[in-house]
Amino acid sequence: MADKLLIKGGLVYDHDGDVHRPSDADILVEGSDISAIGTDFSPEQVAGAEVVDASNHLVVPGLINAHYHSHDTLCRGMFEDIPLEFWLLYTLPMGTFRSKEEIRIRTLVGALESMRCGITTVQDMLGLIPMTEENVDVVLDAYEEIGERVVFSPMVFDIPAVGMLRYRDLLPPEIQEMMGNQANNPKEQLDMLEAQIQRRPAKGVTHWAVGPFAPQRCSLELLSGCADFAERHDLGIYIHVYETRGQVVMAREMYGEYGGSFINYLDAAGMLNHRLNIAHSVWISREEMDQMAEADAGAVLCYNSNMKLKSGISPMRDMRDAGMRVGLGCDNCSGSDVQNMFQAMKAYCMLGAVSDPVPGTPLAHEALRHGTIGSARTACMEDQLGALKPGYKADMMLLDMNDTAYLPYNSAARQLVYSETGRSIDTVIIDGKVVMKDRVVQTIDEEALREEVADLMKSFIPEYEDVVKQRQVALPYLMEAHQRVWDTDIGLRRFIARTGYGDGDLPQ
Ligand SMILES: [Zn+2]
Repeated sequence: MADKLLIKGGLVYDHDGDVHRPSDADILVEGSDISAIGTDFSPEQVAGAEVVDASNHLVVPGLINAHYHSHDTLCRGMFEDIPLEFWLLYTLPMGTFRSKEEIRIRTLVGALESMRCGITTVQDMLGLIPMTEENVDVVLDAYEEIGERVVFSPMVFDIPAVGMLRYRDLLPPEIQEMMGNQANNPKEQLDMLEAQIQRRPAKGVTHWAVGPFAPQRCSLELLSGCADFAERHDLGIYIHVYETRGQVVMAREMYGEYGGSFINYLDAAGMLNHRLNIAHSVWISREEMDQMAEADAGAVLCYNSNMKLKSGISPMRDMRDAGMRVGLGCDNCSGSDVQNMFQAMKAYCMLGAVSDPVPGTPLAHEALRHGTIGSARTACMEDQLGALKPGYKADMMLLDMNDTAYLPYNSAARQLVYSETGRSIDTVIIDGKVVMKDRVVQTIDEEALREEVADLMKSFIPEYEDVVKQRQVALPYLMEAHQRVWDTDIGLRRFIARTGYGDGDLPQ
């Protein structure tokens, strides 16, 4: 593969230019970076370059999925009607203590889907249990093999899984045990992270972040250690905050010392700063949004996952008013069942539009910014990723404008967000390498992977069915805990088009 690429004759999308009618330009890539963008390169400049014909194509910065977990890619399509806490009951065991082969396959499956859909970077907040050197190597080797950029944060926590649940005392001890009652040692978790980042420092498509699971699963000691780790290594921090109503009830009732706020709890740990990104942020209050904005902390919004898992709608219009920064994500493969940032961007615009009837934002070109530069910012990488500019990483997708999404072609930004599904992407470049060309992935044998997946699913599916059968015993207790959560008035409304629901009324 040539060390120099010339992407020739495309319409190059520029966030700061005409977002509806991008101009024709050529992009010169040297090594992993864009070295120049223009229309009149000299023969010397482009000598020896491999030419990628981009005529009749939109050339768009690669999308950045700022919230994703590769641990459940094999569970796609297995769930439909259950809220988050019920869904965790089944998905958590299917992602932990897996074979190395399975970890490799599931990582490749998610990376392949992402790549085919123009996602050139994923933030993999991975539940890697156990977090051993071998398992870390399997994951990072898989990303390197396929050539997908990853911002990797194996999740750390020291409070057991059952700690996710408000009113867990309603569950008999054996059910609490089944849901995961084991605590970790915070120092061991931090030492393991330190060892891994020293052993496999950021290079090529590999980058690091810090991923404490959630405030209710991390002690102040662990969170403080994570904040310190992020500062020392100059990394972004990703943590699940206020995904469900139950989590805000937990904050209000169990974190009185911190004013009933997880944001204050994170602040007490030294984490409320420009590195912090809270995934979901559905049940955040306006006052907490102001705190976040003042600290330059951001949210990663995952609307499709929140809708499918019945968590509610995050208040993006209020976040805008507060001046909070925002990135976008797709979340788990069994949570919204697809790694597709076009869906994420469209949901961002559509849900903004049903929040109030005033003309104006959110607009398609803003969603494109959030899904690229905004998501890059979450990883503290906005000077390298998310835009097509000299000095930036050469991460981009080429979209064939013969696709009906562009018939007729009126606005690149609007048609990318409202019409595109990922169907027209035929070429993807990551880190200066053409990883997909004419719809064929160049780095792995996709057919061989399909066969490996089919083989693996022969044992995976019966195992999953057993987990569902065994764990169903917990459902009545979970339902009782949830009824209490739904019945608690917290003064926030995050469900729409259902009178009163979300303000304390019980679902019928
Ligand atoms: Zn998540």
